[in-house]
Amino acid sequence: LSPPSQGYYTRGGGIGEGGDFITSPEISQVFGELIGIWYVSEWIAMGKPKAFQLVELGPGRGTLTDDILRVFNQLASLLSKCDVSIHLVEVSPKLSEIQALTLTGGKVQSNPKDKSAYMKGVSKTEIPIFWYRDIQDVPPGYSFYLAHEFFDALPIHKFQRTEKGWREVLVDIDPEVPDQLRFVLSPSSTPATENFIQPEETRDHVEVCPEAGVIIQRLACRIEKDGGAALIADYGHDGTKTDTFRGFRNHKLHDVLRAPGTADLTADVDFSYLRKMAQGRTATLGPIKQREFLKNMGIDLRLQVLLQNSGDTATREQLLHSYDMLMNPKNMGDCFNFFALLPHHRLADPDKKHEPKSKSALPPVAGFGELLLK
Ligand code: SAH
Repeated sequence: LSPPSQGYYTRGGGIGEGGDFITSPEISQVFGELIGIWYVSEWIAMGKPKAFQLVELGPGRGTLTDDILRVFNQLASLLSKCDVSIHLVEVSPKLSEIQALTLTGGKVQSNPKDKSAYMKGVSKTEIPIFWYRDIQDVPPGYSFYLAHEFFDALPIHKFQRTEKGWREVLVDIDPEVPDQLRFVLSPSSTPATENFIQPEETRDHVEVCPEAGVIIQRLACRIEKDGGAALIADYGHDGTKTDTFRGFRNHKLHDVLRAPGTADLTADVDFSYLRKMAQGRTATLGPIKQREFLKNMGIDLRLQVLLQNSGDTATREQLLHSYDMLMNPKNMGDCFNFFALLPHHRLADPDKKHEPKSKSALPPVAGFGELLLK
């Protein structure tokens, strides 16, 4: 997906109705608005720190951050004393151009001398925005992280259990058909089979994304040290699924080995692996289904308000259709999950009064409310 010249995302990536796949922020403004409210709610719950960075990994067309910034602007009286900045981690030059256009109207400075960023600009609402290729370039500080349909785009290793032990699924050139790739099993164990399979694994086919593990470790270390939270939303499962690697082109399934670089590739995120990789540095919440998370965040109320405010039938139908896309279990309601990393003290059990002063119960984490009650 991301080699410098021929990668799918490097060449622009077909996100949107006219492209290869559509994402929730591209379907409905409500999605980003509710996520914006999640961050404001956590910011309040954590005692309204004087500054925060919103760090988005893989921002696509910039739509999600744009919707979040609109919420921050609407709640300006609340956030007026808080120093907010936006930090986008994006490897694709084409997509960072589109993000710059969406968020700043295209007024950006490349390779600013004073910063580790490769580009900087200012949002339409006067909030500074910086672009980086790697999370490690983002300056330390109190940060809220966001990754929507990011982890599913990272490369995976595939493994198959055989009578002789674990073997790695590798990509080979088909000797029979010109220009055709094929899957083969490694004849013996490989460094990846030795290192990435958990000893307690019970499945026969496993996909592991070590890069996701490394990024989660970085996020967990940063949150432990500087404070903040991470919200991760993606197709995924909790350590139960096996063969999920797929290609999409023109909104249709596409052979992953055909015409590399021309189709989106995706593998479901294994949230049990992400939880393991946080290594107890932070608490984790979820995964919780998208329809439950959005319901807990008040999507029904927001839909009612938008329906009341829209005069024409076409807009109302569009609102109802996009609600169905996000919430219906047959669409994105069930297969999409939300997962969060939070500092341990944010979830400390209020009943265990270690400190006599902390009598007031901690507010529940928005969106995950139901889970917390359990
Ligand atoms: N979050 C967006 C886009 C998802 S597509 C949305 O929901 O609409 C995946 C995004 O991740 C793209 O912006 C792609 O360019 C970016 N990306 C993929 N691999 C990356 C990597 N290793 N580092 C940073 N960004 C990456």
